[in-house]
Amino acid sequence: MALDDNCLFCKIIKGEIPSERVYENEDCIVIKDINPKAPVHLLLIPKTHVTDFMQSDEELMIKSYKGLRETIEKLGLYEKGFNILNNCGEAAGQTVMHIHWHILSGKKFTEGNH
Ligand code: AMP
Repeated sequence: MALDDNCLFCKIIKGEIPSERVYENEDCIVIKDINPKAPVHLLLIPKTHVTDFMQSDEELMIKSYKGLRETIEKLGLYEKGFNILNNCGEAAGQTVMHIHWHILSGKKFTEGNH
């Protein structure tokens, strides 16, 4: 796993910055978002420093897919309904340049309700 010493999420992966981990496997961690936008707002963070979606590859996507499914099953989110979101690029709202997946549940994201 290649990490970047200057990256916030790499520091969280290494435990240098505290976080509330709700799930972890060998390829990713899942933490509570510090500024939740829904009753459940988690971040799945691959344990490799890749800046964004377009820098990722199939292997990372498969690992992320597995981590997302495991998290959803472990927390029973399929029954509650959920949204998965990836922001790619500052113009789209990406603020942390380490690829991550938002997992949101408990709020209906419809037009005018963001
Ligand atoms: P994005 O805007 O898509 O890059 O998402 C970054 C997310 O990271 C935001 O939802 C922030 O609230 C969240 N965040 C930033 N710092 C922390 C932290 N120390 N612990 C947990 N979540 C964080």
